[in-house]
Amino acid sequence: MRVLVIEDEERLARSIARALQDSGMSVDIAADGRTGLWRAREMPYDAITLDRMLPDIAGEELCRTLRSEGCSTPILMLTALTTEGEELDGFDAGADDYLRKPFSPAVLVARLRSLSRRGPVSPSVLHVDDLAVDPRLMTCTRAGTDIALTAREFAVLEALVRRSPAVVSKRELLDLVWGFEFDGDPAIVEVYISYLRRKVDRGADRSLIHTLRGAGYRVGG
Ligand code: CA
Repeated sequence: MRVLVIEDEERLARSIARALQDSGMSVDIAADGRTGLWRAREMPYDAITLDRMLPDIAGEELCRTLRSEGCSTPILMLTALTTEGEELDGFDAGADDYLRKPFSPAVLVARLRSLSRRGPVSPSVLHVDDLAVDPRLMTCTRAGTDIALTAREFAVLEALVRRSPAVVSKRELLDLVWGFEFDGDPAIVEVYISYLRRKVDRGADRSLIHTLRGAGYRVGG
């Protein structure tokens, strides 16, 4: 599942992103309201975490704008403020849930999973050829046979399937799945592609996972 994190505090944004990525979600970060609004309009996210206090657009206003445009992506509002009235303002603006800072990453992940199950946003199961990927249940089948994937493998595959038939560069995969702060060896991507190839393509009559030298990776027939 793919989550947009709209948060201006860089350290918090990164720690949220890390927690979500560790549980197999893909994450985009927007550091201000304007960027967040633009991304939410451009991409079909499964959920959005929205900081209430942003430098340019207030969280409530951003939420209200998205709802008025017909966006039904589940929104989890994050706030440092704690009065009941302010929570009600958030719900009034169209937020689906509320979480007070500081919060535990595990609670955040659980709330997002539960919200995304409710949300009618993107089709629940993504199909490419005979491959089916369910971002909410984190399950994957090929020609009806279950494929067991780790959270990280799943996140890489989901990112590729969502863009299929387009090519996704190694850098994009690193940012989406490992996070912008990743400073390890980028060759990790190739390692995961080889894991996926072994699990998804082995024994099949055709390969679905392709490497395009110098460009990136693609899932498709
Ligand atoms: Ca803030």
